[in-house]
Parts: sequence; C-alpha cells; structure tokens
Amino acid sequence: MLLPTLSDPTTREAVRFGDEVLTFSELADAARAVVSRLGGARRVAVWATPSPHTCLAVVGALVAGVTVVPLNPKVGERELAHILADSSPELVLAAPGVDLPDGLAGLARVDVDLAARESGPLPEEADPESPAFIVYTSGTTGPPKGVLMPRRAIASNLDALADAWEWTAEDVLVHALPLFHVHGLVVGVLGPLRRGGGVRHVGRFDSAVIAAELAGPATMMFGVPTMYHRLAADCEADPAVAAGVGRARLLVSGSAALPASDHARITRATGLAVVERYGMTETLMNTSVRASGDRRPGTVGLPVDGVELRLVDDDGVPFAEVETVGEIEVRGPNLFLGYLNRPDATAAALHDGWFRTGDMAVREADGYVRIVGRRATDLIKSGGYKIGAGEIENALLEHPGVAEVAVTGEPDDDLGERIVAWVVPAGPPPALEELADHVARLLSPHKRPRVVRYLESLPRNEMGKVTKRALGA
Ligand code: ATP
Ligand code: MG
Repeated sequence: MLLPTLSDPTTREAVRFGDEVLTFSELADAARAVVSRLGGARRVAVWATPSPHTCLAVVGALVAGVTVVPLNPKVGERELAHILADSSPELVLAAPGVDLPDGLAGLARVDVDLAARESGPLPEEADPESPAFIVYTSGTTGPPKGVLMPRRAIASNLDALADAWEWTAEDVLVHALPLFHVHGLVVGVLGPLRRGGGVRHVGRFDSAVIAAELAGPATMMFGVPTMYHRLAADCEADPAVAAGVGRARLLVSGSAALPASDHARITRATGLAVVERYGMTETLMNTSVRASGDRRPGTVGLPVDGVELRLVDDDGVPFAEVETVGEIEVRGPNLFLGYLNRPDATAAALHDGWFRTGDMAVREADGYVRIVGRRATDLIKSGGYKIGAGEIENALLEHPGVAEVAVTGEPDDDLGERIVAWVVPAGPPPALEELADHVARLLSPHKRPRVVRYLESLPRNEMGKVTKRALGA
C-alpha cells in the first residue's frame, strides 16, 4: 500500500502551506472527494503549483490508482505541447482560480477543493506495478523524457530512505522545493505522508523562514545545493539563523553535487553535517549517507536498502577497484518501468537488467560513493587522462576569489580536450595562472584549467542544476 496512513488516519497535520492545513484524516476524506471527480480517467495532469491543492490532487489520484503527470507551472509553450502530446492526459487538476495556459485549453479542468469531504472505504489499492507517475526528467542533458514510475518503486524507496535516515512519524519536514520532480514530490511530499509525519511547505526558499521552522516544529529539511549555498552564507551572517538551523535533526541535500566547501561552511556555522544522497527520476534515490553514518563532504554514501550498485569501465565491464572512475549502474525495486514512448531510449539505458545512470563515480575504501560528474558533460578527456569536472569545481570553490564555478572540456588540438573554468568571481576576478596553480597544488598538474571565462551567473535550471549544455559542453 502506497499511503497506509490514509486507511486509519490520525488528526495530526499532514500538509501545511502557510495557513492552509490538512490533517491526515481531512486529507483522506478530501482525497475520496477527488476520486469521485475523476470520472473514470486513467491518466491525469496536475498543474503542480506549490500548494496544498497539488498535494491533494496527487494523493487523490494515487488513491484512485490513476497515473499522475505533474506539470511545472512555469513550463514553456513548446515543452508543454511536447508533454501533452507525449503523455495524453484526460484531464487536468488545478487549484481553483489559477490561470492555466492556452496550451491546456483542450483538457477538461477539475478544480481541487480543499474543503470537500467524502467518507467511506478507500478504493482498492492499485497494482504495485502500475505507474503512479509520469515524471519528466530535468532536461539537464537533453529534452526531458517521461519516466514511468511504478507504485512499487516509490513504496520501496521511501522505506529504504526511512531506514537510512531513521525517518519516523515524529519527523516534520520543512519544504521549499517545487512539486513536479521526484525530489519535491515523491521524497518531499509522499515521504512524510507515508511515514505519518507532516510536511510544511514554505514557498520560496528563505533561510530565515527555514531556520524558524527548524527551531520550531520542523525536524528536517530536504534541499538542493543552491539552497545550502545560500543557507551557508546566511548562517555565517546571522547567528540566529545558524542557531535555528542547528536545531534540525537532519539536513539532506540532493539533485546535484553539494560542493564540499558549502558542506564545511554549514558545519562550521551550525555544528551539523549535511547528509548527501544521490538519485534520479528513473531510479529514485540510489545512495545516501546514513543518519548514523560518517558524513564526509563530497560523498553520497552507500546504496540504500534493496538497491544494488556497481561501477563499470568504458567497455561496460564491472570492476571493484577503489578510487577508479567508472559509470554507475544500479538495479533494484527502485527502478522505473521505462521512458514513455521511447523504447529506443529505454533499451539504451538498460544493460543486462542494470540501469545505466550516465553518472561517473569512484568508490572509496569503505564503499562510499563519490560522484565525479556526468558522462555526457562532466567527463573531460585531456592529455590521456579521464578527469571529472566535479573534483576541479570543488577545488576552485576553495579559492577565495571564486563564488561559483562550472568546469567543462572543449576541443583542443594538443590535449584532445582542454579544461575550461567558467567562474562567477567573488570580487576582482582572479587571473587564470592563479586559479591554475591553485588547482595544480590541490589536485595535480594535469587537472589545472587552461582557460577561464568570467560570468555574472551560471546557467541553471529550476532545480538549481547548472545546464552545462548552455556552456557548450
Ligand atoms: P536529464 O536526464 O533530462 O538530462 P537530469 O538527469 O538532471 O535531466 P534528474 O533525473 O532530475 O534529471 O536528475 C538526476 C541527475 O542529477 C543524476 O543523474 C545526477 O547527475 C544528478 N544528481 C542527483 N543527485 C546528485 C548528487 N548528490 N551529486 C551529484 N549529482 C547528483
Ligand atoms: Mg538524467
């Protein structure tokens, strides 16, 4: 059962957005009312504004056994047209009064009513192998692909995370993430609802609000690295923020690499070390540092319960050596069913039943995984070496003149590829030689950037991930 807490619900708070609250028992009754309004649809879109209506729409559809296509409310016309043509939902669930774009005009609209209540038994639980969601990937490396995510994967992955994070019904999550990706929706909303603890969504990320929540009812925060970067600066600037954040039981980061420098700054300011986990739309969460584990900066810990992980070389051959770069492949109950309408991409992503993540990593002596970057954009082949951009980015971030950085490779007659550092300077732009020497000293000479380009900001998508394709990678 995906949401057992709805069969015998408590009167504790389940979701809160500002003053709008639904207890577990209200959520169960309101979800039944959503079920009645779906009119036998099998696949529905949800206009996923950060609102209790989105949570209720998703829960109602999941209770009904219907597949949800979460839509980013800031989606552009072309992407929306692609998603609708690809996924063909039968109707769209939205918060009352919210304007929908013209691209959705052809779909019947169902307004989600937070006040509606229906009692009676919940519908029979849907087949665990049926898709709960079609979630589109972040589009970091190409056009977003629709991921068919079965109910079984969600249930098992949320339980694996509960095990890794010692997550119980006593935990309350403070949430500032969007609700149309697996991080914010599956881990951030369904996670607390499956456990029986609450979720408090605070809208846009604001360090002072997060700190107040963690000093109050919230026990944990899930965020992306850009949030922790801001949180680090705000904790350093304001002891009250640091004290509030320091009350958290657990701070979790994911969706992109958390720079080791931000990890260290948070610890210095709050006394807490962030737990980093690694996941993706197709697999949910693959690895995490355990709540009781060693929270080493720059590592994403161990495979979570039930997930098998291996590293393979360029020929797809698994190897066990430590500190050797290979592509991560995973297998387990967390895997998706395939990409919607993309049998080619699905077949290409699978290798003897293992999912090819496209992410490159090394294993440390105790099995901890350290991600070095994506095969497509972060693996630089220079002077006969295979170099991960992430390691160079972490080194550059330790230079006081560097506020933000992305490292890419570009064609070079001599080296094959040369290392380029795209730098957002923290003050007067540091010279190339200074940055190159800094990297050569910390890492090794062949890892030094050959070119530095200064930017006012890095191109990022809505999850705060740097879109290196925009930098020519
Ligand atoms: P697309 O597949 O459309 O290019 P995407 O891969 O960014 O987009 P998601 O499924 O949202 O879409 O993101 C998964 C990816 O995010 C992983 O493959 C990995 O590259 C990155 N990622 C997630 N967590 C971490 C982490 N802790 N450290 C480093 N990278 C991470
Ligand atoms: Mg991807």
